[in-house]
Amino acid sequence: FPAENIRNFSIIAHVDHGKSTLADRLLELTGTISSNHLHQQVLDKLTVERERGITVKAQTCSMFYKYNNKNYLLNLIDTPGHVDFNYEVSRSLAACQGTILLVDSSQGIQAQTVANFFLAFNEGLTVIPVINKIDLPTAEPDRVINQIESTFELDVSDIALISAKSGIGVDKILPTVIEKIPPPSGDINKPLKAFLFDSWYDTYVGVVCIMAIVDGKLQKGDKIMSAYSEKKYEVVDIGIMHPEQVTTGYLHAGQVGYVICSMKVAAEAHIGDTFYHIKNPVEPLPGFEPAKSMVFAGVFPTDANEFNRLDESINKLTLNDASVSVQKETSTALGQGWRIGFLGTLHMDVFRQRLEEEHDANIIITRPTVPYKIIYRDGTSKLIRNPIEFPDSTEMQNKVSELQEPIIMATIILPEDYMGSIMDLCGSRRGEQLEYNYMDESRVMMKYCIPLAEIVTNFHDELKSKSSGYASFDYEDMGYQTSDIVKMNVLINKKPVDALAAILHQSQVAHVGREWAKKLSEVIPKQLYEVIIQTAVGGRVIARETISAMRKNVTAKCYGGDVTRKMKLLEKQKEGKKKMKMIGNIELPQKAFYDFLTKD
Ligand code: GDP
Ligand code: MG
Repeated sequence: FPAENIRNFSIIAHVDHGKSTLADRLLELTGTISSNHLHQQVLDKLTVERERGITVKAQTCSMFYKYNNKNYLLNLIDTPGHVDFNYEVSRSLAACQGTILLVDSSQGIQAQTVANFFLAFNEGLTVIPVINKIDLPTAEPDRVINQIESTFELDVSDIALISAKSGIGVDKILPTVIEKIPPPSGDINKPLKAFLFDSWYDTYVGVVCIMAIVDGKLQKGDKIMSAYSEKKYEVVDIGIMHPEQVTTGYLHAGQVGYVICSMKVAAEAHIGDTFYHIKNPVEPLPGFEPAKSMVFAGVFPTDANEFNRLDESINKLTLNDASVSVQKETSTALGQGWRIGFLGTLHMDVFRQRLEEEHDANIIITRPTVPYKIIYRDGTSKLIRNPIEFPDSTEMQNKVSELQEPIIMATIILPEDYMGSIMDLCGSRRGEQLEYNYMDESRVMMKYCIPLAEIVTNFHDELKSKSSGYASFDYEDMGYQTSDIVKMNVLINKKPVDALAAILHQSQVAHVGREWAKKLSEVIPKQLYEVIIQTAVGGRVIARETISAMRKNVTAKCYGGDVTRKMKLLEKQKEGKKKMKMIGNIELPQKAFYDFLTKD
């Protein structure tokens, strides 16, 4: 295929606006999959993705299409569908020359529509707006067309109105893609420049990379090098996704396909990396960033005997997900575990769900922490990902010049009626309003600067419930800002419980301190001794709760007599003890931690 007969494009949309449905229709229309095939959304492969209706791993697919008597190779590049993966979205877009901006005609522009549009705009892509779900009785296509025109200043004169579900209007999409999106501009005679924008781990063949060949030609047997790591690989298989892997033996400038090279772990496939022939280095593509975790949590097995088995499961999952970072961690309260870094809270939830469902794991996850930055007086700095790394008072006094926390810029789109309650929510989360604009008579787009720590603790759920589900939200990284943060300890009978410590902003200490002490007093069972629960910052106690003592006698219910029954109960009690942790002089069941950390 000469480059002028190739188009590389993607579909971007807010979640549920119909991206996967449209992708399936296009694959059917081009005969890439059959239409009576009992498939469901071919491009969403993981079960978690289907259940949650979001794309975690992007999937790319090549299609062949005849238009005006010419044969075209159309590469549909899928993008992940959640704010946690915005870096990966921007890299997928960097592999395209154009994109379809799909908007649900009953919902209108939502936060992710805006975020994705600007990612595409910044990559210099041709953006083709398309209105979806026109079959719905609640569709308001004219209103949405106005929103698109005023928000993005896009040409809407011949905008396509479609129903991806029923197929209405879908036949117009590919001709528009061919006419409006420019072909890739690479040069097959230049040295190889290959751009990696997706990868996954396959149990049989190892790491599968998806690359766009910017210049030159890549063939089976070629020796290539990563511009980022300078590691060398040999190509063992190469071809296109159609929709499964189809070997072609080579890919040339303008093409997109899979590359299998002697790469052992997914962590070596850095999204956004450039590859070249070993003897022919080239300037890498701009925009590369190594994966960076923004949310960290301690993960512990509820049963310590499960540690080794879980360690294996976690290794397997991280083989498949290069953006997860793992370190061993030991807690006095919860034993041996791991400190795991994620791109965001959804990423963390997906990981937890996969661990529980695919690996049958019983785990306790601590409250998520964002990476805080300590700036020292000598000018050096350090990121801390765990409250136990927080500097003590001596270090604070002698070495630390300031503490910083990560902040984000949030885009929130909502009906005007909910503005008041969402402004209150953002205010209570230390948000600062930057601006707000009316998108039409009744829809508002607000921009807020908010500390990331406030977003990772239930912000999204509260936003949804305070707006009856109508507000949508997306965010972008804004770096670090000086902040008045402290470490709050939880003490049980005067002993600090490491796994429950938290880094908080000074202004949140009073209410979180009270809430936690109360919640703990509800989940810790009565003991033989009185139990005192305190939350404290340094030596200052924030809140205190007391659980009165109780003499526990498990055989009391047996009304004498039945000895075997008594024995059984005692046996059970012994077993239960195995899952207890000694904190000072009291025994705490793992379940209390579990209940405390999961009930919000
Ligand atoms: P994605 O999150 O953008 O990939 O959205 P999906 O393709 O998964 O679609 C979300 C939901 O909208 C699914 O239940 C689809 O069946 C439905 N849907 C998609 N396109 C249409 C359409 O044109 N009309 C109607 N009525 N429903 C649609
Ligand atoms: Mg989808």
